[in-house]
Amino acid sequence: MNHPRIAVIGGGLTGLAAAWRLSDAGDVVVYEAGDRLGGQIHTIELAGRPVDVGADALLARQPEGERLARDLGFGDADLVSPATGQVHLWIDGRLRPLPQSTVMGVPTDVRGLVRSRVLTPGQLVRAAVEPLLPRRTVAGDRSVADLLGERFGRAVVERLVEPLLGGVYAGDPERLSAEATIGPVWAAAQQHRSLTFGLRAHRDHSAGDDRPVFVTLRGGLGRLVDRLADELGTRVRTRAPVHAVTAAGSRWQLELDGRVDAADAVVVATPAPVAASLLAATVPEAARELAGISTASVGVVALAYDPADAVDAPAGSGVLVPRSEGRLVKAITVSSRKWPHHAGDTFVVRASVGRVDDPSALALDDATLATRVDAEVRWALRLRRPARERRVIRWDGALSQYDVGHRARVDRIRFALEAAGARGLHVGGAALDGLGLSARARDAERLSHEVREDLAAPRARSTTGHSRGVGPEATRRPGTLPRS
Ligand SMILES: Cc1cc2nc3c(=O)[nH]c(=O)nc-3n(C[C@H](O)[C@H](O)[C@H](O)COP(=O)(O)OP(=O)(O)OC[C@H]3O[C@@H](n4cnc5c(N)ncnc54)[C@H](O)[C@@H]3O)c2cc1C
Repeated sequence: MNHPRIAVIGGGLTGLAAAWRLSDAGDVVVYEAGDRLGGQIHTIELAGRPVDVGADALLARQPEGERLARDLGFGDADLVSPATGQVHLWIDGRLRPLPQSTVMGVPTDVRGLVRSRVLTPGQLVRAAVEPLLPRRTVAGDRSVADLLGERFGRAVVERLVEPLLGGVYAGDPERLSAEATIGPVWAAAQQHRSLTFGLRAHRDHSAGDDRPVFVTLRGGLGRLVDRLADELGTRVRTRAPVHAVTAAGSRWQLELDGRVDAADAVVVATPAPVAASLLAATVPEAARELAGISTASVGVVALAYDPADAVDAPAGSGVLVPRSEGRLVKAITVSSRKWPHHAGDTFVVRASVGRVDDPSALALDDATLATRVDAEVRWALRLRRPARERRVIRWDGALSQYDVGHRARVDRIRFALEAAGARGLHVGGAALDGLGLSARARDAERLSHEVREDLAAPRARSTTGHSRGVGPEATRRPGTLPRS
């Protein structure tokens, strides 16, 4: 096909990176509803310095995020890793170190747990008997709380695992899928009777890998977005919300405000509720499944303190707060300690609030929220005076919830698209295969690959109301569905 037209809906990292990777495959256009690109990547200026108020780091152990940055021309001088990885837990009103020997909060060594004093003696004993417990085989996915509560007791879930998952998903461990959110733990549970021993093997396997776990860009991750935007140039349209995607013969139609655009291939990279409404008329089965993915709203309060007021602050890059502590704040990132390039004449802290089942923090107005968060942060970090500058950023419906059965749901979405013969129509984004930026960069590589394949071998399409009689070869058998 000569110069196919490729429409990418959503100007977050998934959409921008997919569009950039596709830019030699045809005429690419990115449609972004808002007036700003980057979605959940957003760098603001606070006290004269750039501060990320959405995502602030890439998981370096998944290579695709860093690969995207390097492919875009960023080098060693731009990529920076954390100065410290030490994290505290806010337990019973005191800061305790997160035990070193945990995998996603799950203990692999009782001695580390004892030293951290995160658990009471009774809770410790309960966690320590895990290797002696019989195996319970359960068909299919389970919730994080169900799997880990059964093996280690509720306290490990509430005091160690929930705060870590809370930082990523703002989710409820009673609902979050063990398969989709704590992959290494889930894998160990499939292979070993004891999770302690299974995870110890996992930990030993990664021991000796001294590469940093996270990496960011000096000057903020907004630079990644700016570089993508520069590369894409006029191919990006902001304030261009798409309202529906419908089939029109062998092409696709995008309904925009007051006009319709045509495309040969479409990548949907929006949050799940938007993707659901975009596809409602065209692939209703996929739309129904997308609509079933719920989201959590969160907020970030960025705070700038005088470094002289922070001389008593504990070492470490941050504090995680279990919901059982009853605080507004669920995580504190001490940016000035975490990132070497943030050290200097301002002590920068980011605090996040909001959980899927607790809207109380976000119900407060900005001024009240900032004041109360500032007070909690000052208490936790022993800061002497209030912040000199405070900014509240709200992320409504930002974080997709990977509830029990999420992986199977993603398979059903992909199958519905295949079964409808919706060739050329692709769905990506953080709602499906991983919230992290490195997972987003990987998704962009996959989307680019799949769109190229489609454009190389276009086929007749059969979607609701537009049946062109599709042959059985266009429908992938369920057994051959890709794992997400
Ligand atoms: C506070 C916070 C902190 C985070 N920290 C980290 C971190 O440190 N590390 C990490 O790896 N991840 C982090 N994440 C997660 C990560 O940022 C996101 O999962 C990722 O950026 C999502 O990218 P995306 O492109 O899939 O979606 P989004 O960034 O949500 O982009 C979707 C885009 O689609 C647009 N859109 C919506 N509707 C339409 C429409 N109808 N038409 C056109 N466009 C539309 C939106 O405006 C948006 O720009 C964090 C997230 C938040 C909220």
